[in-house]
Amino acid sequence: MNQNINILNNLNPKINLLDLNYAEMQDFIVSLGAKKFSAQQIMRWIYKHNCSDFDQMLNLKKTIRNELKKESYIFSPKFTEEQISNDGTIKWITSLGDQKIETVYIPDKKRSTICISSQVGCSLKCKFCATGEKGFNRNLKVSEIISQVWEANKILKQKKIEKSITNIVFMGMGEPLLNLKNVVSALKIILDKNGFNLSKHRVTLSTVGIAPAIDKLIDMVDIGLAISLHAPTDIIRNSIIPINKKYNISLFLNSVSRYLKKSKANRGGVTIEYVMLSGVNDSNKNAFELSNILKKVPSKINLIPWNPFLNSSFTCSDIERINIFANILRKKGFTTTIRKNRGQDINAACGQLTGNIIAHIKN
Ligand code: SAH
Repeated sequence: MNQNINILNNLNPKINLLDLNYAEMQDFIVSLGAKKFSAQQIMRWIYKHNCSDFDQMLNLKKTIRNELKKESYIFSPKFTEEQISNDGTIKWITSLGDQKIETVYIPDKKRSTICISSQVGCSLKCKFCATGEKGFNRNLKVSEIISQVWEANKILKQKKIEKSITNIVFMGMGEPLLNLKNVVSALKIILDKNGFNLSKHRVTLSTVGIAPAIDKLIDMVDIGLAISLHAPTDIIRNSIIPINKKYNISLFLNSVSRYLKKSKANRGGVTIEYVMLSGVNDSNKNAFELSNILKKVPSKINLIPWNPFLNSSFTCSDIERINIFANILRKKGFTTTIRKNRGQDINAACGQLTGNIIAHIKN
């Protein structure tokens, strides 16, 4: 059923309005003979009222509604599976034909965050990540990125979960900067006051370090940046993150510094993600090395206990080691937090997203 819808959509010459950011919506609506401001009305129906039915858009003239029906449609692939964790985290799967992507909802005291995917699978093959192990299928379209937020909003309303989405993180499947054009367009919809209307301080993109794309990004959109550094030296980083051989730590951090200089969204500096792998990157020496390479980069450090997945050879550092590591960094003046692992019982935690709803984990 779903596959058929997708095949139909690929052949459909009509435009899916969820693929258009505000500027593109204005161009489109003008091409139909309507006034520019109708773009605002349509965006509001879609994003404020979760409406996909042109007949309900009664503040638009009938002639325009008919034109819209002829030339466009509003289609969002539904979540097909759902798993709820003991801690309230929810993992949703979207089936895109025979491929699957994951979206994770993480409620917390003050915020409720949704973690979205930008690609089906991932091409980067970081050694400690389950998504990379599965390989890469394709980039997501703007509508497929945006649909994850749209559908989540709808389901949360249906479930009568009062807390609507306050934060969005691009930390699901895929490397967002390898799908730059579509990710930027989706970010524009997320930030637009006629779209999801989120503040740039509440939207974060995580990247493994595609240095030239970081330089392009700041000229396109300003959002919070998190970087998957995970190692203090090129020797260690090369051994766990293959793309480091192309964009090494110094190229990566230089592009991040340039981003920070131009960004207003990153007031407190960049968030450094550092996965704790026992015996690989977690010694005291590594903590000192890390503080050294970050001396000139305003940053806060988030240590991520490594989440296990089937057949992986890594082990997570124990909590004493993580605390000692964190304290060295704190003494060096870095705000350092240890990430809570949310949704681990349903494989919804970082690096566990493979598109499988039932997967066994080795503890
Ligand atoms: N490709 C982007 C977006 C993924 S975000 C990036 O690399 O930043 C997911 C975060 O979880 C990244 O920091 C990633 O390195 C980290 N991660 C991957 N596998 C993990 C695992 N098994 N346990 C904990 N963190 C993991």
